[in-house]
Amino acid sequence: MIFHGKPVPSKLQIAQGLVILFFTLLSADPAQAQPAFKQQIQNLPNPLKDSRSFVYDGAGLLGNRKADIDSLAKAMYEAGGAQIVVVTLESIGDASIEEFAVELFSHWGIGEKEKDNGILVLHVSGARQIRIEVGYGLEGVLPDAKASWITGDVAIPFFKDGDFTSGHYYLMQSLLRVLLNPRASRAQIVEIKETIEPGTRINPDQIPEQSYLSSTEERAERKKREEDKQSGPEWMSISLMAPGYIPGLWMLFGIIRRFGGLRDSDLDGKEKYDTIDDAILEYSGAPLLLNVGIIATEIGFVGSFWSAILLPLFVGGGWIWQESHLKKFRQAPRKCSRCNNKMRKLSEEDDDAYLEKGQVAEENAGTVDYDVWVCDCGNVRIERYKSPGSQEPCPSCNYYTYELSETRTVREPDYNSAGKGEKIYACSFCDYTRTEPFEIQRLKREDETVSGIATGLAGAAITAALYEVRHGSHSYSGSDSYSGSGSGGESFDIPDDFGGGESGGGGATDEY
Ligand SMILES: [Zn+2]
Ligand SMILES: [Zn+2]
Repeated sequence: MIFHGKPVPSKLQIAQGLVILFFTLLSADPAQAQPAFKQQIQNLPNPLKDSRSFVYDGAGLLGNRKADIDSLAKAMYEAGGAQIVVVTLESIGDASIEEFAVELFSHWGIGEKEKDNGILVLHVSGARQIRIEVGYGLEGVLPDAKASWITGDVAIPFFKDGDFTSGHYYLMQSLLRVLLNPRASRAQIVEIKETIEPGTRINPDQIPEQSYLSSTEERAERKKREEDKQSGPEWMSISLMAPGYIPGLWMLFGIIRRFGGLRDSDLDGKEKYDTIDDAILEYSGAPLLLNVGIIATEIGFVGSFWSAILLPLFVGGGWIWQESHLKKFRQAPRKCSRCNNKMRKLSEEDDDAYLEKGQVAEENAGTVDYDVWVCDCGNVRIERYKSPGSQEPCPSCNYYTYELSETRTVREPDYNSAGKGEKIYACSFCDYTRTEPFEIQRLKREDETVSGIATGLAGAAITAALYEVRHGSHSYSGSDSYSGSGSGGESFDIPDDFGGGESGGGGATDEY
């Protein structure tokens, strides 16, 4: 490009910014409809309420162990250790098991409010996924790693054999072991054995004090950390916004300050116009950065509602305000420097008679606009307004009539070498021309492009096809305070062939 000097904030840049913001706004969609899975949760019968049970076996996986599992959960609940709820469902629609678990946890209010000691075991048979969702109060005793041992080492091997009933039964036994002995080793936790016989009571004295976090502050802190983690994207967008906001504000206040300085001045319209125009030039780096900030937001997080609302107001409003003032300055009556009478502004057609031919050419090129004010005493005043976007003046005649007139290909690029092109700049006033050579990128073979895409797709497909272990998929939903319980936990996707859960090993059994 032939441009030089400071970039002036052009209307084009602002328009670009606004277009990006418009799409940001569209994609933000703050009033999203309630997802279908929330409806499903609303309709699920709460076993805790309806049947005083701790089990909802919607997918019918618990078989003859259903009563045992229920009684073990009940024993732990009555001893004050934890409220364990086991839910099996065939489908949760399009929802992820994590979001479903969090929502269900909070909707049913699993766990006691004071202790936040709920545990939800959610098994979605259609998706072949199981998740242990843990209330905040129990995260010390049952951290993600231990939850993942229980799902991966205890339940999944049974599930792999199609024995959901035993898988769930021994999963419950393992949960009880952890709750009764937080210091148990991995081997002790995942051992397949009956620690508590169904139907027996658990002595409350057996429940270690540290089974739940005793201090409310500690729980609150934990919850806050989870919330912070959850609101990460939004938080990130604000930090990404900083490169946009800070120079934007700096520019805005700089220009406003300049406007303020004009209030009591005795400058005429043209002098005021130039003062503001200079200020814009001085702060001209900012709009570019503002755009960068907006794009960064787009990439960082599309759903930032406030940035989508505030920025168009900020940029668009500021721009309109500034332009209207500049227009006012430009139209303000001028006083004749000779006789002090009011001058008269000529129309664009009439003013050509007072301009040099080069100036008329500049007006025709749209790069500079001239206002001609005349006085009855014969005094003439010519004011010059340069359009935003500072291209170079013609090296020959010095008028701003020098533009790119043609781009042409000298040699076509092929698959082996780059091509050559020429940009021809010409002056529309004095006919000066200059030719600048440039390179045209080498052609890419279809297979080069395709193989690149294929590699990416294959990688994604392999990743998706293999088992999936989501570590530390903490979640917290602040939308429901029914029980004050939040949750965190660990989930495992069981591969389609039940080929090894955590390890992702082979296997050909197709149970469903
Ligand atoms: Zn005059
Ligand atoms: Zn020229």
